[in-house]
Amino acid sequence: MEKETFLETKFLIVGGGIAGVSCAENVSFLCPDEKIILITESYLIKTVTNLRPLGKMVQSFDIKEEHIQTSSINQKVTVIEDLVTEIISRENKILTKSGKSIHYKFLCLCTGAQPKLIEQGNPYVIGIRDAESVLKFQEKKTVVVGNGGIASEIVYELDNIDIHWVIKDNYISSTFVDPGAAQFFKKRLEGSSDKPKKTIVKRMTYAKEDVLSGIQKGAALGPDWHRKIDISGYQSNHSLNIHYNSEVNDVHLTTNEDFPLRVTLSNGEIIYCDFLVSATGVEPNIKSILSDNLFDISQDGGIKVNEMMETNISNIYAAGDVCSADWKWASNWFQMRLWTQARQMGAMAGKSMAAKFKDERIYQDFCFELFTHVTNLFGYQVVLLGNFNGQGMENGYEILLRCTPEIEYIKFVIKEGRLKGAILIGETGLEETCENLILNEIDLTPFADDILNPNIDIEDFFD
Ligand SMILES: Cc1cc2nc3c(=O)[nH]c(=O)nc-3n(C[C@H](O)[C@H](O)[C@H](O)COP(=O)(O)OP(=O)(O)OC[C@H]3O[C@@H](n4cnc5c(N)ncnc54)[C@H](O)[C@@H]3O)c2cc1C
Repeated sequence: MEKETFLETKFLIVGGGIAGVSCAENVSFLCPDEKIILITESYLIKTVTNLRPLGKMVQSFDIKEEHIQTSSINQKVTVIEDLVTEIISRENKILTKSGKSIHYKFLCLCTGAQPKLIEQGNPYVIGIRDAESVLKFQEKKTVVVGNGGIASEIVYELDNIDIHWVIKDNYISSTFVDPGAAQFFKKRLEGSSDKPKKTIVKRMTYAKEDVLSGIQKGAALGPDWHRKIDISGYQSNHSLNIHYNSEVNDVHLTTNEDFPLRVTLSNGEIIYCDFLVSATGVEPNIKSILSDNLFDISQDGGIKVNEMMETNISNIYAAGDVCSADWKWASNWFQMRLWTQARQMGAMAGKSMAAKFKDERIYQDFCFELFTHVTNLFGYQVVLLGNFNGQGMENGYEILLRCTPEIEYIKFVIKEGRLKGAILIGETGLEETCENLILNEIDLTPFADDILNPNIDIEDFFD
C-alpha cells in the first residue's frame, strides 16, 4: 500500500457512471464554490450527449465515454481514479485502495451494479458488463440466458454464430414487452438481411478485471454498446434456436476439444457450446465496500434511499443501480435499473445534497411521477411509459392494440377509462400525447376504441 494521503472535501461522489457524473454536475452547478471530489475506479467516465426530447419527460440520449484526464467534468470537480474500500461514517471519511483517506461533509454512493452470473469463476460463462466482455463471444456456438433488454439485443446483434437462447417465459423480451410485441419483433429475428449497417469503432479496452475476485469492473455499458462494437462471429451464416420455458440447471466444463462447455436445461436438453452469456440481471455493487455502520438494504440488494436519495446513515446518499427506491412511488412510476433512472437519481441526489448544505427545502423532481424509457430492440425504437405492462394493477385493466406489421406496434393500458401506460414501438410520434394522457388522467371513455383507430389521428383529439 502507498503512503496514506489525507484529503478533505465538502461533497464526495463515488462512481464515474451516469449516476455519479450526473450527481457531480448538479452539485457543481448549485454549489460552484465548494470543493467536490468524484472518485472512480475506472479511468473512463460516462457523460450524456445528444439529448433529444421526444416529449416533455421522455428523452432519448447517447452515452459518451471520456478519459477522466480530458473530461469536461474535470473543470468543475476533482476527479480521482481509485477504489473506495471502506466507509467510516462516524468520522465522515472513506478509505481507498491506494491509501487515501478522504474526509467528507456529504457522500453519495453511485457504485452501480454487477451482472448476476449463472456460475462464478467459469471462464466460459460471461456476464455482459463492458466492451471487453462483449468482444469475447465471437465464437461459433453461444448459449444466451436471460429475457431482458441485454439478452434480446445480443441475440439480435450476434451475426454468424449459432445461438441457443434460453428463456424462462413462453415469449421473447418479457422484461420490456408483452407476447404481442414479442411476435411483432420475431420477424426481425427471422430475417437479418434488412438490419441497418453499423459503424464499427475500434476496440476500446476500458475494463479492469479484478484478478482475485474475477469480478468485472468499470461502468456498465450504455444503451448503444452493440451499435459501436462489432460482435459478429466468424461463420458465414447463423442459426437461432429459442428454448422457451427453460432454465439452466447445470453448467459443466468438458474435455471435448470442439466445445468446452456442456449446458443442461431444465427440460433435460443438453447443449455443447463455446460460451454461455449470462444476462440474467444485476446485483447492486455495495458488498465490496466495508462500512462501520450498516446500510438498510432492500430485498433486491440495493441500498434503500428515501425520495431525497438519503440512506439511513446521516449525510450519505446513494443513486443509480446501487440504490433501491424506498419511498411511496407515484402510481405510474416504478424502479428499473436503467440509464434514464441512473441519470435522474444522480441529479436528484446532487440537488438534495446541495439543498441540505444550504439549508434549503426542496421537493422530489417531477420525473419520478412517470416511468419513461427509450431504447432500441431488434432495430426498432421502443418507448415505454407508465405501467406499460400493467405493473402493479393486478386486473381490471383493458389493453388497446394497434399493430402494423414491421412498422409499428402501439399498446395502451387503460384502467377506469384512464391511460396508465403505453408501449410505442417504431416511429409512432405519440410520446408526448401519451405522456399528457397519463399525467393529466384524461377520461378516454368518450372515445372508446377509436382512440387507436388507424384512420384517426389521435393527437387531433387533444389539440
Ligand atoms: C450490457 C449492458 C447493456 C445495457 N443496456 C441498457 C439500455 O439499453 N438502456 C438502459 O437504460 N440501460 C441499459 N443498461 C443499464 C445501464 O447501463 C445502467 O442502469 C446504468 O449504467 C447505471 O448507472 P450507474 O451510474 O448507477 O452505474 P455504472 O454505470 O455501473 O457506474 C458505476 C461506477 O462506479 C464505479 N465504482 C464501483 N465501485 C467502486 C468503488 N468501490 N470505488 C470507486 N468506484 C467504484 C465504477 O467504476 C463505475 O464508474 C445496460 C447495462 C449493461 C451492462
